[in-house]
Amino acid sequence: MAVPFVEDWDLVQTLGEGAYGEVQLAVNRRTEEAVAVKIVDMKRAAECPENIKKEICINKMLSHENVVRFYGHRREGATQYLFLEYCRGGELFDRIEPDVGMPEPEAQRFFQQLIAGVVYLHSIGITHRDLKPENLLLDERDNLKISDFGLATVFRHNGRERLLNKMCGTLPYVAPELLRRPEFRAEPVDVWACGVVLTAMLAGELPWDQPSDSCQEYSDWKEKKTYLPPWKKIDSAPLALLHKILTESPTARITIPDIQKDRWYSRPLRKDVKQARRSSGGVTDSPGGFSKHIRSDTDFSPVKGALGEDKASYSTSQPEPGTGGMLWESCAGSIDQLVQGFSFSQPACPEHMLVNSQLLGTPGSSQSPWQRLVKRMTRFFTKLDADGSYRTLKEVCEKMGYGWKMSCTNQGDGLEFKRHFLKIKAKLSDIVSTQKVWLPGT
Ligand code: ATP
Repeated sequence: MAVPFVEDWDLVQTLGEGAYGEVQLAVNRRTEEAVAVKIVDMKRAAECPENIKKEICINKMLSHENVVRFYGHRREGATQYLFLEYCRGGELFDRIEPDVGMPEPEAQRFFQQLIAGVVYLHSIGITHRDLKPENLLLDERDNLKISDFGLATVFRHNGRERLLNKMCGTLPYVAPELLRRPEFRAEPVDVWACGVVLTAMLAGELPWDQPSDSCQEYSDWKEKKTYLPPWKKIDSAPLALLHKILTESPTARITIPDIQKDRWYSRPLRKDVKQARRSSGGVTDSPGGFSKHIRSDTDFSPVKGALGEDKASYSTSQPEPGTGGMLWESCAGSIDQLVQGFSFSQPACPEHMLVNSQLLGTPGSSQSPWQRLVKRMTRFFTKLDADGSYRTLKEVCEKMGYGWKMSCTNQGDGLEFKRHFLKIKAKLSDIVSTQKVWLPGT
């Protein structure tokens, strides 16, 4: 399928699905260049069209090796196309083996790159607000790239910092002050999320559903019960760093300059990362027991519009006349416009935003975050054609005693589905391809 209105580019594969549309891989027929195209259906995003405009404007501010590069965007009718650096390595999420994590040197390297990206974002006054392994992508050399600026915002402008008040992010990754206080500083919240990401990388599970006293796992952590999982799986040096990051008080929490001085953070890698990955056997979908692990199915993105925060006006730039290749919109002055109306106001009632958003799920999405996650985690590519794959799958199902019928949909308990999926996938190991995505020119 060709990219509408853009010559020479074909949409060859779906890379992922988001709240308002999907992300496709576009390849240039002549040059074989590859870009990711985020396709946003503005009708689905109708209740908060400012979100996508803000995502575009923030993307235009960004330029760093650990942040997904933004090439430009264009709007055609009700559809917005965002053209982004294609990250062939997929999501960091998929490198985390459930219950196990990944080799420590590899986690250290990813963590250093994550911190480098966050340092950059904070240096230009941007906070991401939804750092999690699903939003951290990898390029062909396994370099980490921070992605998805859909919830990002400006917290410092002209040297003036403003406090945030909006509760948004993903519950297992949000900092405790966000659930408790009317206002909080932006940087410590991102630092906290980095700590949860590091925990997931080192232990293959999330430490808690949310950092509140009603959550037993969080209370155990505060009582320093590190003989419990996930902490007991983590070596003392990274655990010491996690103690400093996952400190409840944002004022006592370690800052990024101090993370960079930390003993574990700054010590040389003990092992070549590639070698480490080989010796760990790579990432597997180990059968069984994914229940409370690294899934983050509790996204809560507040419904915008009713809120006092982030009042901003945006450029309404028009697509430039076509020249045959990718067409980019210019955004001159958009950053000034983005921060125009830079607001210090309070939301009327932050709790309501949380409740509403949890009840509503992700606005505009036809699937819940959990359904999307199950889909992402229960997908593999085979070396055979469709008929061959179907025959082998049928044989395996019959041998394993599953009843089966061909259908385009799956229903029921997502977790149970995932457990069965993993068992079936293990039996199909002969035909499962380790090459996850189609790469142009290979
Ligand atoms: P969400 O609703 O989860 O916040 P979203 O609508 O903001 O999603 P993204 O998170 O930007 O959409 O993208 C969805 C998925 O598409 C990603 O998790 C990833 O798997 C894939 N993806 C996004 N951007 C790229 C890219 N640049 N290169 C490769 N894959 C990508």
